[in-house]
Amino acid sequence: YYRKAKSVMSLQTLENLSVRDMMSVPVVMDEETSIYDVIVGIFIENVSSVFISKDGFLSGVVSRKDLLRVAIGKLDLQTTPIGMCMTRMPNLVTIGGDDSVLLAAQKINAHKIDALPVVEVTPDGLKVIGRFTKTNITRIFADLASGEF
Ligand code: ADP
Repeated sequence: YYRKAKSVMSLQTLENLSVRDMMSVPVVMDEETSIYDVIVGIFIENVSSVFISKDGFLSGVVSRKDLLRVAIGKLDLQTTPIGMCMTRMPNLVTIGGDDSVLLAAQKINAHKIDALPVVEVTPDGLKVIGRFTKTNITRIFADLASGEF
């Protein structure tokens, strides 16, 4: 009975925990940035995906595999803007800061992606306020087990 009660409590914890409290700092680069500079950015910032913006609002996502694909192609990486090879709006899967980490995990699973941009909706577009990834989920999972929450 104790084990069962504990596991129910943990599921509730995941529903009550908001993305805002568990998210990481996002790496956002402009659409005009060269593919080369985005690859350098991925190494410097040690992230698996970069969020792309146009006029300060979210316009795309680039993953490591997107960059590998374009790197083995014929494009000139130094001069081609990242806007040429990113996944674009409206195909982006996003999450709000007030949403639960459970919903974030469900979206990551359902869409088979590694990272969600955490966004704030404004009349002019989506402002990126954070990054929520499989790494965040792993950390929450481990913290839950050690009685952190
Ligand atoms: P990788 O391709 O390095 O394994 P992902 O699984 O995150 O990394 O990405 C898979 C594909 O989905 C890529 O083409 C990427 O551009 C796209 N993608 C990544 N994150 C998102 C997202 N939040 N919304 C929509 N598409 C995404």
